[in-house]
Amino acid sequence: MTNELEHFIGGKRVRGTSGSYGDVYDPNTGRVQSHVPLASAEEVRAAVANAAEAQPEWASWNPQKRARVLMKFLQLCQDEMDSLARLLASEHGKTVPDARGDVQRGLDVVEFAAGIPHLLKGEYSEGAGTGIDVYSMRQPLGVAAGITPFNFPAMIPLWKAAPAIACGNSFVLKPSERDPSVPVRLAELFIEAGLPPGVLNVVNGDKTAVDAVLTDPVVDAVGFVGSSDIAEYIYSTAAAHGKRAQCFGGAKNHMIVMPDADLDGAVDALIGAGYGSAGERCMAISVAVPVGKPTADALVEKLNERVRDLSIGTSFEESADFGPLVTAEARQKVHDYIDLGVEEGAELVVDGRGFRKEGYEDGFFTGGSLFDHVTPDMRIYREEIFGPVLSVVRANDYEEALRLPSEHQYGNGVAIFTRDGDAAREFAGRVDTGMVGINVPIPVPIAYHSFGGWKRSGFGDLNQHGPDSIRFYTQTKTVTSRWPSGRKEGASFTIPTMG
Ligand code: NAD
Repeated sequence: MTNELEHFIGGKRVRGTSGSYGDVYDPNTGRVQSHVPLASAEEVRAAVANAAEAQPEWASWNPQKRARVLMKFLQLCQDEMDSLARLLASEHGKTVPDARGDVQRGLDVVEFAAGIPHLLKGEYSEGAGTGIDVYSMRQPLGVAAGITPFNFPAMIPLWKAAPAIACGNSFVLKPSERDPSVPVRLAELFIEAGLPPGVLNVVNGDKTAVDAVLTDPVVDAVGFVGSSDIAEYIYSTAAAHGKRAQCFGGAKNHMIVMPDADLDGAVDALIGAGYGSAGERCMAISVAVPVGKPTADALVEKLNERVRDLSIGTSFEESADFGPLVTAEARQKVHDYIDLGVEEGAELVVDGRGFRKEGYEDGFFTGGSLFDHVTPDMRIYREEIFGPVLSVVRANDYEEALRLPSEHQYGNGVAIFTRDGDAAREFAGRVDTGMVGINVPIPVPIAYHSFGGWKRSGFGDLNQHGPDSIRFYTQTKTVTSRWPSGRKEGASFTIPTMG
């Protein structure tokens, strides 16, 4: 078979044995460029067993020694940044500069996790009772697994794997079958950086592989990122099998534009955050909410011009604003939503469906689209489109604008653009979403804070990276110790108290 990809198990690339394969496309040309092996349940169990075997020895390394592996890995990735970004872009379709950002935002979390000696420091209470000291320590869970989406094939696997292994766990990653090459290369670089074989494994596959992970009693924790229905399924199945789970889902991120906002700045923000990466970001802005008719009219007029001006190119044109969508199905889904929006009565101000890229007519390209007069009852508002389509929902006043993201089924990110600090502060406090940007359109928290959405954007109670990731990948053990120095106190039949 031409260009057959592999798994990464036990510190090396291994061929699939299930006989089942998926197609990996070049989204620029529309051609199948390789085949990814789809693991059987037996292959998954073998990878998990391998991870379990490697874990105790890895956990016995002191945290500083583990951190040195992460630091070496950071260096190797920086040295290889360009080829990682090109490999990523060739399977995903995002532009190479955007792909560099994908790798870098993952490395930011590796950098955070390299602080593990400090992050794992426990708590100590001296003299909690007479001669009694109490201390808590964080210990690894054992084997953790990650199931990740196509849209950030470097960043999200690193968000999962880096804190997990830094805490002393071993890790089994099941990346997206759409763009599996970068995760395997990253695992290989970890080995070059000194990670013992078996601590990080990559098993490619589809639902069969995922279900094998979810039901394997050896797996202690599952982290998922993807669409909401699957997130809910993974969360409930993992929990039913006694696993710790954190599952992040889809989004519909609103950007409120107040009448006092710098309108040109808001338009720049909407164009970048709405159309960058062809809208295939969980933190993309997909709904603009101008407050008041004059703001709305002026905003739509400016957006109309800018959306028509977008430069759509192949992943390898450095100057392109965005590239093709990941697959033909993804593009069809976006086009179906545009048809639906028209049927539902929204005004299609810019229609990107007719866009063709000269010389790449079979690529999965679509142009930028813009809807005005979208209303909350429409499906194009209620559901995630995941493409370069921005919907304008006009709000009469601030309270109506605040209600829109707060009442939406998704609660990932939201932004407000205003010059009024009082309004912005009030908004951040009251809005019902997990991440808020104030004059920042894509408020992805920095690596040492935690990332996560609310409502149908996040299932589970701990977020990704930052302090929450250390809590998620460890369990707390609390020791109460007493050194009686020869005093004899006899048996006590009452519950011990410190008083
Ligand atoms: P997806 O849900 O189709 O797939 C995600 C993962 O789940 C993949 O590894 C896939 O193989 C697996 N999977 C798919 N169907 C499955 C099934 N029926 N049973 C078990 N496993 C299954 O998502 P996608 O299309 O790869 O990614 C895009 C989605 O991810 C969007 O909804 C986007 O908003 C979301 N996303 C969310 C975040 C976040 O942090 N909230 C970040 C990035 C992407």
